[in-house]
Amino acid sequence: MGDSSGSHAMAEQRVAVEKGTDVETKLIRMDEQHIDAALMREAGDVIKAGGLVAFPTETVYGLGGNALNPQSSEKIYRAKGRPSDNPLIVHIADMKDLDAIVREIPESAVKLAEKFWPGPLTMIFYKSELVPYETTGGLDTVAVRMPVHRVAQELIRSAGGYVAAPSANLSGRPSPTMAKYVIEDMDGRIEMIIDGGDVEIGLESTIVDLTAEKPTILRPGYITKQMLEDVLVSVEEDASMMRGDSGQAPKAPGMKYRHYAPKGELTVVDGEAEAVIAYINAQVDGCRKAHKVTGVITTDLNLCRYHAHICKSVGERQDEETIARELYRVLREFDDENVEVIYAEAFGTDGLGQAIMNRLLKAAGYKVVQV
Ligand code: AMP
Ligand code: MG
Repeated sequence: MGDSSGSHAMAEQRVAVEKGTDVETKLIRMDEQHIDAALMREAGDVIKAGGLVAFPTETVYGLGGNALNPQSSEKIYRAKGRPSDNPLIVHIADMKDLDAIVREIPESAVKLAEKFWPGPLTMIFYKSELVPYETTGGLDTVAVRMPVHRVAQELIRSAGGYVAAPSANLSGRPSPTMAKYVIEDMDGRIEMIIDGGDVEIGLESTIVDLTAEKPTILRPGYITKQMLEDVLVSVEEDASMMRGDSGQAPKAPGMKYRHYAPKGELTVVDGEAEAVIAYINAQVDGCRKAHKVTGVITTDLNLCRYHAHICKSVGERQDEETIARELYRVLREFDDENVEVIYAEAFGTDGLGQAIMNRLLKAAGYKVVQV
């Protein structure tokens, strides 16, 4: 069916983007405990004048522009090398600012905002005329989030209240969880980068569509289905969330794009621990004979058990918060190390595990082996 079926048709093309030389990028350091008012005013002025500023949030680093300025949104797409029908999330810092950008605020949104804002939850509303289609990827709906990170909040206020911000990576690369990866991808492409240290969560926000008949999770994140249902009783999940081949047309243009495919061929291996280790080692041995550089994504307990050239742990298996924080870093490192074939242990899908597996499966193009 059309161009939305199958993981390959859905894969975002890796765009070959040269190192940016368009702009002199100013790098500043600011953390939550030390907000420098003068620098913050300067950063806000950059966005007000139509420029772009990368900044830390609790989820991943964002690439911010004025959400109400169509040219700013176009600039964001250009800087990332991202297709312009992939909608941006509008970030606000104060509840009173929501009114102006949405047509109505449903009761469910009020309840969710009371519980989870500021925080890693994005809600989708019908947009008001104030929000340009350039920001929403041509949709009549707008995604809105209120981050809890103080640097993000102060920047949003200083920039006039509405900051459109996707993750601050080049399209096709993992979202940056550390400033050094923002610099790697965005130096020379944007006006300013605020280094606020490493992020806390490491995976993008949970997205809930409140324009659907029932509130529907479009992207899992730190706020889990259970947490949402504690507030709303019943929440649906989009069928394509954990598998690439649901055959359903994507609800929003953005959902047809795979976020990230590593340079190496990534396979997720699921099953009982000893069987997973044996399977991966057999595959790795074969690849090594063929002179391919191999990598394994594992957890602390199994780190010494693999034959691959490079083995990386994302932490202890039961510590999902750490796994969430480490996953994108590990994927980026494998790219930098030119690993050609990567095997990853599968993780549990309860709670935060669902968001972790959602990102890992996307990165693998949904290639999973059951052993
Ligand atoms: P990010 O790349 O982390 O900024 O994520 C942005 C994602 O939010 C997009 O790829 C979409 O999946 C989702 N999104 C943003 N706006 C909308 C919208 N109006 N409707 C549905 N999904 C949206
Ligand atoms: Mg992104």
